[in-house]
Amino acid sequence: MGLFGKVGQGLKKTRESLMNTMNSMLRSFGRIDEALFEELEEILIMSDVGTVASSRICARLRESVKEKNITDPAEIRQLLKETVSSMLAGGQTLQLQTKPAVILVIGVNGVGKTTTIGKLAAHLKAQGKKVILGAADTFRAAAIEQLEIWADRAGVDMVKHGQGADPAAVVFDTLSAAKARGADVVICDTAGRLHNKKNLMDELAKISRVINRELPDADKEILLVLDATTGQNAVNQAREFKEAAGITGIVLTKLDGTARGGVVLAIREDLQVPVKFVGVGEGMDDLQPFDPEQFAAGLFDEE
Ligand code: GDP
Ligand code: MG
Repeated sequence: MGLFGKVGQGLKKTRESLMNTMNSMLRSFGRIDEALFEELEEILIMSDVGTVASSRICARLRESVKEKNITDPAEIRQLLKETVSSMLAGGQTLQLQTKPAVILVIGVNGVGKTTTIGKLAAHLKAQGKKVILGAADTFRAAAIEQLEIWADRAGVDMVKHGQGADPAAVVFDTLSAAKARGADVVICDTAGRLHNKKNLMDELAKISRVINRELPDADKEILLVLDATTGQNAVNQAREFKEAAGITGIVLTKLDGTARGGVVLAIREDLQVPVKFVGVGEGMDDLQPFDPEQFAAGLFDEE
């Protein structure tokens, strides 16, 4: 595993691509000046950090450099790490105090919703929580089977209906089962694609209404799953779902195998929604609670 742990390992490609360009740029400057910040901003934008976040990072760096009287470009990396870590901090823990609490998992097809639910169920179970899954992606039979495999693997209960069933009815039954069985956390899978986008958003709204009606005082997390390999596309998806579905957090999957890990910053700064978990592989323990400090170290620390 080495120095960086799983997340650092998952960020390897992002770190290498970012550090290669950044180190040679920093070496080409004898001192810190405005041209350096401009080049840095460009490098960040090229690394999927997004224009808003990149310009904010550089603004903060300019301030710290002035404040601390720093002149050596070699010190920029450490400053960047601190800046990014503090920008990403806050709001990353799941709010699941009530019994039961509900997590609704949404996002487009193939981003990793079902896999994330399986990993999350195992994660919460390991914390001593009784978890129950709702197979509310009824669009394809395979989706229900896939979630069932994960439920078995994680050793948790699952509620299902048949293919084509009303997803809101599945959620209703899952909530009832959770109450009857004294579950701590309900996690509901959802379809990523229906006949069209309006359909999908209407469906999610209907599911939300059922949850709010059945458990008005419960803690609810609406987690949007995004695939890091899609870069700016992930940011666009976040924007659409944020408007339609009121998300409380992001799970960013497939950080392993992409150089686009910088997209975490774009999502956080453009949308003001916290990243709560990151996926760094397909295995059960490849979902990690998002740790801003560890993440920043994974981006900017030397191997
Ligand atoms: P869904 O359609 O959103 O439910 O997506 P799935 O959970 O079915 O996942 C789609 C594919 O992405 C599967 O092959 C998963 O194994 C894979 N996947 C999910 N999360 C990760 C991750 O963090 N890393 C990697 N490498 N693959 C992942
Ligand atoms: Mg799925």
